Parts: sequence; C-alpha cells; structure tokens
Amino acid sequence: MTIDAPHPAGHVCLSFDFDGPSLWLMRKMTGATAMSRGEFGAVAVPRILRLLERRGLPSTFFIPGHTIETYPDVCRMVVDAGCEIGLHGYAHELNSTQSADEERAALDRSIELVGDLWGRPPVGYRSPAGDLTNQTIELLVERGVQYDSSLMGHDHRPYRVRAGDEFPTDGPPRWGNETDLIELPWSWTNDDYPYLEFVAFRRMIMPGLARPDDMFDNFGGDLTWMVREVVAGVLTLVFHPQVIGRGHRLLAFERFLDAATDLGVRFDTMADVADGVARGLAFGVE
Ligand SMILES: [Zn+2]
Repeated sequence: MTIDAPHPAGHVCLSFDFDGPSLWLMRKMTGATAMSRGEFGAVAVPRILRLLERRGLPSTFFIPGHTIETYPDVCRMVVDAGCEIGLHGYAHELNSTQSADEERAALDRSIELVGDLWGRPPVGYRSPAGDLTNQTIELLVERGVQYDSSLMGHDHRPYRVRAGDEFPTDGPPRWGNETDLIELPWSWTNDDYPYLEFVAFRRMIMPGLARPDDMFDNFGGDLTWMVREVVAGVLTLVFHPQVIGRGHRLLAFERFLDAATDLGVRFDTMADVADGVARGLAFGVE
C-alpha cells in the first residue's frame, strides 16, 4: 500500500528469499539430500503465506527464475497472496563472479520470469551473491530497477547506491557518483540463514541451529532501538522459507511479530518503501 507519510515509529520489511533447489545447485551440491533441502522451501512457503495472511502482513519474496520454473504453482500462491516479487538471479548465480555477458543474460532471464509471474515489471533486486559489483549496479540502473537490497552501509536509513567506487591500496577510496538505484540495506545480523541453517561445506562448518528465540531477540533489539532512536526508520529482515518454515521457528516468528506489532511499527513491502524514498519521503532520521 502506498506510503503517504513516513510512520514515525518505523517500518518493517519482511522479505523471503525463496531459493529452492537453486541455492544448492549453485554450490554444485546436487545430491538428493542437498536438493531436498531446497525442496522443503516449497513446503514452507504456503505455511508462511498462511501466517502472514492471518495477520494481514505485506511481504516481499525474492525468487530466482529457476524456482519460478521449478515451482510455478507455489510461486503463483505467493502472487495470489498479494506479495511483492523481487529479482534474485536466474539460478542463484554468484553475480559478483560472472562476466558481463553472463550476468546480463541471467538478469534479463530473471526479469522476464518475475515479470510474467508478478504481472508487472519487477522493481527490486537482491544479489544471490550478497554482493554488488560496479557491473551489477550498471546493469540494474540500465534496466530501471528501482531498489537493491544487498548492501550494509546503513541499518535503518535507505540511501542511494554509488557507481564507480574505486579502492586504491595507496590512498583513501575514490567514491563514485550516486545513482538512481535506492538501497534498502540488509545485514547478516538480520538474516535467518547464519543463525539457523546448518551447512557442512568441504572446508568449513556453518553451525546454525541456534534457538530461534535468540535470533528474534537480536532482531527485536534492533527494532526496539530503532523505534526509540530513529524517526521513521526502516528495518529489513531476511528469511528463507527452507530455514524459517519449521514448526518451532514459525512459532518463534509469531511471537516476534506480536512484539513488533506492540512496538507500533508499520509493515510494508520493500517496493512501497522504495517508492516512498523515490518520492522524497524522509526515512531513518537520526
Ligand atoms: Zn538466495
């Protein structure tokens, strides 16, 4: 819903990266068990939609093109529930390691698939690599994408992404110019993946499996601080259906949403916040 004026207590954006099997494909972990972890995302999405619907909460789903082709019916449920659909690569490619041609092809293919699914051109992007290069920024600006959510340069204030930054080792950075691309920042601290997902890579273990209440305690701490210290701040939370979609985690999620609602914040899609930023509304005044 269009934001007419910034909400002083603040805005919360609930975002879900519906990676599906593409996350494991990208890591070349194509065994049956790894893939089934991605499959579980499709089981979890309807649960999340029911939870959000009961509370009347808007949300944003970043969906790789590969997931749209793999689970068209589940993706259609997301659209029918009124969620915003954003870009997240074609097959979760690590965009920061791709050539310009490869990155352009994956982005264009994902724009077409998301546009067909959502019924309108996508306005938001989250990098599957969690990283933007100058090449990515240029491609997004060229294609008129309105916002990105892959940078960590602030926590509660949207800002403009710069293009052309240079980082020489013999002097300070040479900052590039601001672009039209709006950043709705995220952070690993506000992402369920490192807290909860256990992954054994060849050379490291990501332990995950934290108590979800501990994670939501951190999320809630940021939110409480934002409500107290920042006028019309924005907090973007990142979830993954395959991670958050299990019973004990969903129950903790509901408790967090109760507490957030009690703080008087407003829930919005990321597209609506970006639209407000583009119209000159002042979010995140500290
Ligand atoms: Zn992802």
